Amino acid sequence: MTLEPGLRGATWGQVEGLLARGWSSGVLQDALQMLAEGVTSRVGFAVATIQVLRSTDEFETVAVAGSPEASAQLLGTFRPRSSFEHDLALAEDWGSLRFVSHDRLAPEEDDLGWVPDLVPVAGPNAWHPLDLLFAPLHGESGKVIGSLCVDLPTDGLRPGPERRRELARYVVQCARAVDALLQRDRLTERVRLADAAREVVRAASSQFTPARIVAECEEQLRRTFDARGMWIQALDDFGDGPAALHTPVGMEVHLDEDLSRIAVAAARRGWQEQRVGIVSPSRAPTSLVTVEQHARIQAFLSGLGLSSVMFVPLGAGPECLGNLVLARRDGDPAWSDVECAAALEIGHDLGRALLNARLFEQERRLSEELKALDGYKSQLLATVSHELKNPLTGIVGHLELLEGADVGEAGPSIAAVHRNTLRIRRLVDDLLLLARSSDPGRRAQREPVDLREVVEDAVELLSVQATVGGLEIVVVAPDTPVCTSGDPTDLERICANLLGNAVKYSPDGGTITLTLDHGPEPDTVTLVCEDQGIGIAPEEQEHLWTEFFRSSDPAAEKQVGTGLGLAIVARIVERHGGSIDVSSELGRGSRFRVTLPAC
Ligand code: ADP
Repeated sequence: MTLEPGLRGATWGQVEGLLARGWSSGVLQDALQMLAEGVTSRVGFAVATIQVLRSTDEFETVAVAGSPEASAQLLGTFRPRSSFEHDLALAEDWGSLRFVSHDRLAPEEDDLGWVPDLVPVAGPNAWHPLDLLFAPLHGESGKVIGSLCVDLPTDGLRPGPERRRELARYVVQCARAVDALLQRDRLTERVRLADAAREVVRAASSQFTPARIVAECEEQLRRTFDARGMWIQALDDFGDGPAALHTPVGMEVHLDEDLSRIAVAAARRGWQEQRVGIVSPSRAPTSLVTVEQHARIQAFLSGLGLSSVMFVPLGAGPECLGNLVLARRDGDPAWSDVECAAALEIGHDLGRALLNARLFEQERRLSEELKALDGYKSQLLATVSHELKNPLTGIVGHLELLEGADVGEAGPSIAAVHRNTLRIRRLVDDLLLLARSSDPGRRAQREPVDLREVVEDAVELLSVQATVGGLEIVVVAPDTPVCTSGDPTDLERICANLLGNAVKYSPDGGTITLTLDHGPEPDTVTLVCEDQGIGIAPEEQEHLWTEFFRSSDPAAEKQVGTGLGLAIVARIVERHGGSIDVSSELGRGSRFRVTLPAC
């Protein structure tokens, strides 16, 4: 074999300089290559290789110095850790170096996949083509992180103490460089996973059901973790019911009760201890599952064509909310530590998304219950009001008959009964109206209505009351129709209630202006009722649309009322697809504006 002419041998200073310059992959690659070349040219070997132990438990050859054939054949190749262990077991301990004499290897053994073409020199210390000399490289924690292998001493002899010492100096530097390379790779991986995690969170956080979360995040999770399959198990609100399994479309997974229980218990423990669990044929069971459970899960996985899973607990705060399972097949790489840490992070974010989905579901259920309750309330109101209406009509009729009769001293009492009965009748009428306008089962009548006619009718209805109160009513309306589509009786009710209130709450007279117009938004019409009455305090304005709300202002309390008028108005406006707002100032007056769709 021939040696590469002009082999470059790096000085320590050059390597130090390179390592100090930073961790770009090019710099580290150069440093490793320089070290390998330093070994060949300065220590005197024809071939030197540096290997890095990857998270897949394989040694990858990352630098080769020496012959181009060796480089072409070895660079970028992988050898299993078991083969390294095997050599280690056979090797003689030469301090930081390990030597395996050819006669200790079985003849067919050829771990490097490359046997140099060498005729051994004579003598007891002659180097044999199948001799192995290597050094395990250790990281700061003492774990093996790589290996430096040399071959073909240039003098044809097994190295003596002097050369071994020199080689040992390179071992230290190689370990440093490989450690830096691994750290940089971990960092790059971490950044990649962190970016991917952000994507997952973005997709998950806008989803409102666990099934949607799975659908949205599946692709990103699979891509990020090179996973062949995934699913999420979500615990129910109380954490004691069956945990629902959510799988992506096209992935059929069925967990029987026993497996589901194992998964839930492991998720709880995992969340508590803040760690993921791995079930894989090449790993011992983690503390999250027992040995039997581990075997049971593996049998289950092989039924799905999978071989290993990373089991990620999902939660928020102290509460475990479920688990995410990421699965791989036979031959896929092992789960790396960086992946485990990133998955645990994602478990927090997915946990929050699950919590949101749970809250959303609770809110939806509550809103449905409230809607049902509301329907029941409307029905109850309608029935009770209806039942009260007939006897009331009878009472009022009899009281009216008594009006002309001689009742002697009972006169004032009968008048009081009459007054109060009319009040109750007003309340019952309002309750019936409220029930009618809130009834979701009632189909709204729809016909084009010119609001100018509606306003006219309301003004006519209240003109006597207004005149008695010293009020002037001004109507401002265009000459052309101001049309909306709806129920004429309901629309009249809106106008009559607003105008009635304006009259009622303007005890000192003044002007009430009713303005009809188009806009301001396109395809809308507006009705504005403005008075110069007592006004409404700002803190009370938002409650005006609530049933039975009455102002605590003594000036308002003086007036007879049920607190139902504006609630009815708001319901009718809502049913017509419109909106209502108020602006008011105490002592200066109020302005109610109703906006309805134009037709
Ligand atoms: P009612 O008038 O029967 O009490 P409403 O629902 O029509 O019930 O009105 C609710 C409350 O809003 C009234 O009690 C009153 O305090 C206040 N209010 C409504 N309209 C006006 C107005 N134009 N000016 C001042 N206060 C008003």
